[in-house]
Amino acid sequence: MSETRAINFGAGPSALPQSVLEEAARGLLNFAGTGIGIAEISHRSKEFAAFLAEVEELIREQLNVPSTHTILFTQGGGTAQFSAIVLNLLARHRLLHPDLKDEERIMDYVITGTWSKNAAQEAGRLGGAKINIAADARVTSSDGKSFDNIPPHDAYKFSQSPALIYYCENETVNGVQFSHDQQAPESFPFHLLPKDALLPLVADYSSSFMSRPIPRLADHAVIYAGAQKNVGPAGLTIIIVRKDCIVDVDAAAKLGAAPVPIGLAYKSFAEQKSMPNTPPVFSLYVSGLVLRRSKALGGVSYYEAVNQRKKDKVYAVLGDGEKLGLLKGYVKRGSGSWMNIVFEVLGEGTEARFLAGAEAKGMKSLKGHRSVGGIRVSLYNAITEEQTDQLVAYIRHFLAEETV
Ligand code: PLP
Repeated sequence: MSETRAINFGAGPSALPQSVLEEAARGLLNFAGTGIGIAEISHRSKEFAAFLAEVEELIREQLNVPSTHTILFTQGGGTAQFSAIVLNLLARHRLLHPDLKDEERIMDYVITGTWSKNAAQEAGRLGGAKINIAADARVTSSDGKSFDNIPPHDAYKFSQSPALIYYCENETVNGVQFSHDQQAPESFPFHLLPKDALLPLVADYSSSFMSRPIPRLADHAVIYAGAQKNVGPAGLTIIIVRKDCIVDVDAAAKLGAAPVPIGLAYKSFAEQKSMPNTPPVFSLYVSGLVLRRSKALGGVSYYEAVNQRKKDKVYAVLGDGEKLGLLKGYVKRGSGSWMNIVFEVLGEGTEARFLAGAEAKGMKSLKGHRSVGGIRVSLYNAITEEQTDQLVAYIRHFLAEETV
């Protein structure tokens, strides 16, 4: 089977480990020895309930999630969370500050790429508070309009008592990511946030979840991620919520907050162990198998080391291609993502030749996002170091061919 599988460098849904897919195929026929397949079994069965509890524990253990935070599983992807975080955290703000007018409530958004821009747009559409753009990477970009950098710390202006503070840790489309080195100018400026033990800090970790430890996890109000990059098939959203952010949205509505649909209220998921309705059973199953495997390999610190080597190798060959004038990285180097590396192949018809040559070697889904163009190499957990080496060898060969 493995001979016919391509190396899938896609940005998501993306590659999954072969061994997990083979195990999942068996689970489709017979889940946990029940004789019933995972796509057929009741989510209320004791076998599935036990599996769900294990998935939660696997995340809690590997990411070191403290008991102050609950882990929820929902559907709707990152996009539903663009709305859910606004509605739940505005309800919380209403309960904390019932007398403020809507125009006195503020939501801070840090905009570093397409996904945080989309999240801020959704917040604007929902209303209920003013939006403060705490930083906009286009302002600090090379041409005044591209998302090619993580803004330096002096570019941020946070509000004093916002209802939420939002950032996207890894911008999948543009290939920019906050550095986890707190001394680096491209790190998230935790030290500039307002002083509050219960900060409403929200992070979209959709495309970097489980790829390495999460800095200052305990200081976040909400961290969420769609499963479909590092964890499993599309359909599952994982949400880590601090308990003070799981609020009585109906009590808030009585005080004038917007009503929160039941399928978006954290409270309904927390009270019913992520099952106020049918959860995405199959996606949870495959994600659980991926997380078991990740634990056996050594957890997020294992992936941190491997992912660091993988991205170092790709950035090194990109640097060589830049020196030859054949490749051009899209982002400022210190802002470059570990997960999604975006670059241009320069010259007439060269990109098409690059992609065709890669396809011929079984390396697929390297075309950049339609809004950015160029090439995007996604190096999620399921991409092995050996597969990365194959890509790097191909790029080296390509550069040599183009320079003769
Ligand atoms: N946030 C990030 C960083 C993403 O990469 C994506 C999708 O690729 C989204 C949000 C939107 O997620 P979804 O498609 O699950 O709604």
